Amino acid sequence: MNLPEQYQQFHAEIRSTIPESRIFTDPVRTLAYGTDASFYRLIPKIVVKVRTVPEVTAVIHAAHLHKVPLTFRAAGTSLSGQAVTDSVLVMLTGAWGRYEVLEDGDKIVLEPGIIGAEANLYLKPYARKIGPDPASINAAMIGGIAANNASGMCCGTSDNSYKTVASMKLIFPDGTFLDTGDEASKIAFRQSHKELLAEIELLRDEIAAQPELVERIRHKFKIKNTTGYSLNAFVDYQDVFDILNHLFIGSEGTLGFIAEITYRTVVEQEHKASAMIFFPDIGTACQGVMRLYRPLVSATEMVDRIGLRSVEDEPGMPAYLKEFGEEVTAILVEVRADNHEELHRCIDGVKERLEGISTVMPVEFTTVKAEYERYWDIRKNLFPAVGNVRPAGTTVLIEDVAFPLEHLAEATLDLRRAMDKNGYHEGIIYGHALDGNLHFVFSQDFSNETEIKRYASLMDDVADLVVHRYNGSLKAEHGTGRNMAPFVEMEWGRQAYQFMRRIKKLFDPEGLINPDVIITDKANLHLENIKPAVVAHPLIDKCIECGYCESNCPSRNLTVTPRQRIVLQREITRLQKSGQDPERLAELLKGYEYFGDKTCATDGLCQLPCPVKINTGDHTKHWRAQHMSQDARRIAEFVAGHFAGITSTARIALGLANFAHSLLGTNAMNSLSKMAHTISGGASPQWTPWMPKGAVLAKPKLKPKKAQHQVVYFPSCLGRSMGPAKEDRDARSLTEAMISVLEKAGYAVIYPSDMDELCCGMPFESKGLPEIGDRMAAKLEKKLLKASNDGAIPVLCDTSPCVYRMRRVFKSELKLYEPAEFIHDFLLDKLEFTQLPETVAVHVTCSSLKMGLQDKFLAVAQKCAAKVVRPPKIKCCGFAGDAGFETPELNASALEGLKEALPPETTSGYSNSRTCEIGLSSASGLSYQSVAYLVDRATKAKGNA
Ligand SMILES: Cc1cc2nc3c(=O)[nH]c(=O)nc-3n(C[C@H](O)[C@H](O)[C@H](O)COP(=O)(O)OP(=O)(O)OC[C@H]3O[C@@H](n4cnc5c(N)ncnc54)[C@H](O)[C@@H]3O)c2cc1C
Repeated sequence: MNLPEQYQQFHAEIRSTIPESRIFTDPVRTLAYGTDASFYRLIPKIVVKVRTVPEVTAVIHAAHLHKVPLTFRAAGTSLSGQAVTDSVLVMLTGAWGRYEVLEDGDKIVLEPGIIGAEANLYLKPYARKIGPDPASINAAMIGGIAANNASGMCCGTSDNSYKTVASMKLIFPDGTFLDTGDEASKIAFRQSHKELLAEIELLRDEIAAQPELVERIRHKFKIKNTTGYSLNAFVDYQDVFDILNHLFIGSEGTLGFIAEITYRTVVEQEHKASAMIFFPDIGTACQGVMRLYRPLVSATEMVDRIGLRSVEDEPGMPAYLKEFGEEVTAILVEVRADNHEELHRCIDGVKERLEGISTVMPVEFTTVKAEYERYWDIRKNLFPAVGNVRPAGTTVLIEDVAFPLEHLAEATLDLRRAMDKNGYHEGIIYGHALDGNLHFVFSQDFSNETEIKRYASLMDDVADLVVHRYNGSLKAEHGTGRNMAPFVEMEWGRQAYQFMRRIKKLFDPEGLINPDVIITDKANLHLENIKPAVVAHPLIDKCIECGYCESNCPSRNLTVTPRQRIVLQREITRLQKSGQDPERLAELLKGYEYFGDKTCATDGLCQLPCPVKINTGDHTKHWRAQHMSQDARRIAEFVAGHFAGITSTARIALGLANFAHSLLGTNAMNSLSKMAHTISGGASPQWTPWMPKGAVLAKPKLKPKKAQHQVVYFPSCLGRSMGPAKEDRDARSLTEAMISVLEKAGYAVIYPSDMDELCCGMPFESKGLPEIGDRMAAKLEKKLLKASNDGAIPVLCDTSPCVYRMRRVFKSELKLYEPAEFIHDFLLDKLEFTQLPETVAVHVTCSSLKMGLQDKFLAVAQKCAAKVVRPPKIKCCGFAGDAGFETPELNASALEGLKEALPPETTSGYSNSRTCEIGLSSASGLSYQSVAYLVDRATKAKGNA
């Protein structure tokens, strides 16, 4: 550890409160954790993951003692550079998840590590939601949402954090704790911080004494504004604690730490309709918008012609879009209501208000969920659409300005002119029209001075027109950060800016809390520390480092996330290409082995929320292929060539382990296996009490000729070798349960021939041996085609990852089904279901999620059990085929909290992949088996007494 002295002292100091396992100084994690969604790159010297108020307090005290600046970090989706630092990064990751719903859903208490969408899940049963609705709500955390005063399409300026905060728990830069919702805490704070509170009152009174400034503040916050501090707190509130609550909103972690926030919630209206309305030009579109208002409409999103062109080929977009003229502008309007009648009144209301305004097509609303969701998906995809088509090695930038609504039309045209003047012809403009909030998105090359100057010139032109011509906001939603800090004074004027400087000095006299963010003396800060854009590999080059993938990743709390793997890959490539700093390169490569490669489950769940659809798991497989030794390749070839023998050996080995378990007991087996795992450096698999015994292959009884229906059943190699564990609820092998279900429903089961030799190739693919995997898959496909009469008979495979792979690599049109899907599509009407009076847990695997099967899985489970629980925070189980035996810590980390999330009365768990089930059982102590067992328990043949 080669740190400057004060950082060494800081490090030593915090170690007395925070475990060393959560303090990082190595080159891999400081780089990976240091990155956020902005285009700035600063590498922290130390990263600390904090979990409790005392830990934050200890970090703040140590920072003061050793004069070390701190930056707080929630999800790192910020775009303006407010969550990066080259000093100490204080991360919330993996903790701060406590919540409490109050007053029948009218309020919610949230810790800052909760993702916005999770908070809305907690409120769903009450038909409520939190007010702020940034487009990033599935990734951004409450701490960042509040500290940025983030907002989105619907919340406008009336339901953002500023308007809906009720109280907060705060930790000040001197380490003092205040709960603004607790009288005793306020009394204590009044005594300990008399001067601070008196200064706040003084600021309030000084501002009040300047009517022009008061008017300016009111005017500026009528539209969305996140440039500078929330000066409106001093105008809207008299009470100092109210001022504090509201000043912390939008303070971007520069005034202190938000340890908890209580929001007043807003109603989530159930009935929705949307219309994509096309106007002949932007002026007419803006006239239309100005006729609309909230609550008649909940959102109005404008998309300019270039934006429309970027999505006109997407499925669901009307073909006539391509025929439209060059000026056509779309407004996507959404109306919401509590009931059907009110919804139609709103629709009629919009149509009436738009009467007399020229539109290219008649105004048509749709209430069909799939149709309006498609429109909104297209709108949400505008930003990534630019990210997707940008040249490799460039960065996608999104700017975020707001104009008074009455100037929206001319301001939009001026914005377009500024972009064209600076050569950004392909940049698109869209945004929340009713709020006068426009985003413009373009790709930017930062690799040479000419390009940086071009960007600087655009920013100067934009600042000039937003501020001087229209008195608008330079940052409407995304926060000031480092990007707009040099422009705060320009936007607000000297007088207001001086108040902001006083605020910062008052709270943080030493300037240690997120320095340079919001308030800076550096005129060119927005052009400094720009992230290098590196062309690393086509599988990951499109990444915009937004962080949407992170919450889905099983290694997010153990090592690194998909975004962070890509950051590391880019830096490794940069160093390899430049030849700079070979020592650092060697350290990154060494560290990547475990952090990047070994703990990547390659489940690909990261692809689902990724706006540019990157599957980092695919890149990991490619990396593995490149770094595989010849010996490993030879062993894999041997396994592929002797597959039948290997599976039967596995069956025997599992049987022996199970025998040993019965003989020695769980404790002795655990100790022995841990010892072997450690001695072998992780090469010997870790035994768990949920280790399966060898499987028995059931023989179908029903003959095809006698049955009404037929199915080809391909038990995966896992299903064929791994039986139930000693502790499992059902002692039968999976093939026995599956065949029992199928035969009850009148299906004759056909096994493919030479089944012992067959495998979909998944284990080979995930180890980085796609050629062997594909060979295995081709052989399997041939056998399945034969068994299914060239695809005439449906094919069922009992393991979801195998079905997913078969669907991806098979060339023929075989009808392939995963168990829950097959049961849902074919067996629901052929079996008699009786709901078991039980609570059962389900885990929908990554593969099932990627195949879109979660609804079918849940529907089947709900037919079988009175209560079905699916803990919302549990995503990929991290078992990853056999990786769970080699790196059990990945599985344990991914499933942290599973046990606690299951109600105590839960009898058993169900999934559809044997290895995932082992991991789930190990983490929860509950038997998890295939969904087939559940269906078998809850059904009988139709007509049977
Ligand atoms: C694709 C994309 C779309 C986006 N869309 C929108 C949008 O529609 N609307 C919008 O407003 N924003 C949007 N953003 C920006 C960003 O997602 C939001 O501002 C979000 O609220 C940031 O939350 P976070 O958890 O990522 O916070 P971070 O980025 O981690 O932090 C944000 C700020 O909060 C501070 N902070 C974090 N936690 C605390 C705490 N506990 N106490 C004090 N300070 C803290 C940090 O120091 C930092 O200054 C978008 C970003 C991306 C990448």
